[in-house]
Amino acid sequence: MTIASLPQLLERIQDKRDEVVALTQALIQIPTINPPGDAYEACCRLLGERLKGKGFAVEYIRAKGAPGDSESHPRINVVARREGQSLGASAPCVHFNGHIDVVEVGSGWTVDPFAGLVRDGKVYGRGSCDMKGGIAASVVACEALIESGLPLPGAIEVSGTVDEESGGFSGVGHLCRLGYFSKPRVDHVIIPEPLGVDRVCLGHRGVWWAEVETHGRIAHGSMPFLGDSAVSHMVAFLHLLDTELKPRLLARRTAIPVEPPGARQSTLNINGIHGGHPEQRYALNALGEPIGDLPTPVVAHSCRTVLDRRFIAEESLESVKQEIIDMLDELARTRPGFAYTVRDIMSFVPSATPQDAPVVLATARAIARVLGREARFIASPGTYDQKHIQRTGQLRDCIAYGPGILDLAHQPDEFVGIDELVQSAQVMALAVLDLQGVLPQLSR
Ligand SMILES: [Zn+2]
Repeated sequence: MTIASLPQLLERIQDKRDEVVALTQALIQIPTINPPGDAYEACCRLLGERLKGKGFAVEYIRAKGAPGDSESHPRINVVARREGQSLGASAPCVHFNGHIDVVEVGSGWTVDPFAGLVRDGKVYGRGSCDMKGGIAASVVACEALIESGLPLPGAIEVSGTVDEESGGFSGVGHLCRLGYFSKPRVDHVIIPEPLGVDRVCLGHRGVWWAEVETHGRIAHGSMPFLGDSAVSHMVAFLHLLDTELKPRLLARRTAIPVEPPGARQSTLNINGIHGGHPEQRYALNALGEPIGDLPTPVVAHSCRTVLDRRFIAEESLESVKQEIIDMLDELARTRPGFAYTVRDIMSFVPSATPQDAPVVLATARAIARVLGREARFIASPGTYDQKHIQRTGQLRDCIAYGPGILDLAHQPDEFVGIDELVQSAQVMALAVLDLQGVLPQLSR
C-alpha cells in the first residue's frame, strides 16, 4: 500500500523500531576496531547484502595500497545506490555516509562491548553511538522510503566507509578521489554522526598536525657540557607555547556555535614528545638489579613533539603555521645553538556548510516536523569525513546529523537511545523527500 500522508510515513518508521535496533546490534557485533582495522569486509558485506535485497546496486571498493591497507587488514568500503525514477534527469541524489570503524574498547566497561545489549531503551556497545546506530537509522529510513511506494525521483545512496577514526584517507578520502562524493553523481550528503536528534552540524574547526624537531649535538652523558641537548631546546620551545601561545589562543573566540562551548576558541594540544633514547621503560628487580635493557649515557641530539593545533574559522591555516614558526625563529635568534625542523603531518581548514544550503534547510524542517521543536545549528570541535567531501569532492551541501550523545563517543558503556534511533530515521526519511521534492505529494 502506498503511503499517502506524512503521519502514515512516520508511523511506518515507528513500526520499524525493532528493525533499527536489530541492525544496530548486528553492526556492533562485528568488532571493526581501528587501528588496526578489523573485520571491515564483514561489516561492509552485512550492509551491502541487506541493501542489495532492497534494490540497491552495491559496490565494494578497496583502497588498495592506501594508508593502513594490507592483505590482513584490507581497507574495504561499501557504496550502495538505488536509482530514482527520473533516470538521468536532474532530481538530486541524497547520500548517507557512515564510518564503520570504531575505536579501541579501553577499560571501565560494565557490559560486553560487542554484544549489542539492549537495556532500558538503549543499545549498548562500542560504536553504538559513534556511529553504528546512525548507520542503522539511515538504512532503515531508506528502506521505509522504498517500501512506502512513494515515487522517489532522485537516487539514494548509502555508504559504509573505513578509517574515519584515523583520518578517513582510505575511506571517504579514497572515494572522494574516485569521484563518489562529487556532482553530478551526488548532490546532498548526510553523515549520521552522533550530534543529537535536534541538531544539525554544519562543519568543524580546522586542524594542523605538525611534528617539531629540535636538534642538538651528541656527547657523553657524564660531560654534557661537550654536547648540546635537544631536549633542553625542546623545553624552551614548550615553555613558550605554554606561557605565550596558549593565553593568546584562549582569547581568540569564534562566532561559530561549536559544541561543546569550551571549543569555541583556538586550542593546542601536545600529542606527544620524544627525545634522546628510543622509547623504553627501565626498572630494577627486588634485588635492586636492572631489568632488561639499560640506557647509555648520551646527550640527546634530537627531540620531537607532535602538535595538535585546532583553529577557528576566523583564522587561516597560513597564520596558524606562521605563528608557531615565528616562535621557533625567535628562539633560533635568542637561544645559542637552537635549530629546528617542522614537518606537516596533516591539515584541514575549517569547514562550514552555509546555513541556507538545501540539505541544512530540509533537515531542519524535518526536525521541526518530527520533534516539534526548532533545530539547532552547531559545529564540531574535531574534524570528521566532511573534510574530504568539501576539499576533494568539492561538495558543499553536506552536514552531520544523527542519533546519540557526542560525549559518549569513545567512552566505556557507550550507548545510543532507541527513541533517538527511530526519531532520527524519521527525520532522515523526511529530509530525503523534501530534497527530492516529494513532500508536497503527502497530506499532513
Ligand atoms: Zn564518528
